[in-house]
Amino acid sequence: MSLKVNLRLLEKESIELDGDILGSELAPDFLDELMRLSHPVEYELTVERQSDSLLVTGSLRSHVDCECSRCLKSFVLPVRVDEFSTLAPLEGEEALPVDGDFADLTPVVREDILLALPTNPLCGPDCRGLKPKGQPRELQVREQAEPNTAWSALDNLKL
Ligand SMILES: [Zn+2]
Repeated sequence: MSLKVNLRLLEKESIELDGDILGSELAPDFLDELMRLSHPVEYELTVERQSDSLLVTGSLRSHVDCECSRCLKSFVLPVRVDEFSTLAPLEGEEALPVDGDFADLTPVVREDILLALPTNPLCGPDCRGLKPKGQPRELQVREQAEPNTAWSALDNLKL
């Protein structure tokens, strides 16, 4: 459950961590109209100490509840990050949160899983979007604004 590593133990050897963390715990501030991190994120990590940083390698696996950005259908998207490798500093502005002897790897996992999410989720590569009901809205709007242009365009098509 915990994504914390003991820095003292890391001085002697690398540490392997595996488990899962709730999406809501991993990224409580994540807000997206089309995606929800409602499933646990499974992680398998190896952590090595490298002077002032931790080298974190491993893989992540989860599912994300999505709404298709074209047709608005709900679907579950599997998300995998294979063999990522991140050098996380222990000092400076970007430093990992450290509490006593423990460093918290949550930011590393969060960043890698968020990077793996699509910008515009699609239910499938061939999604054609919403089926038009009657006239597409775009055309209706254009007709109201420029009736002559729209009709002459249609006339040209018929020729
Ligand atoms: Zn779709």
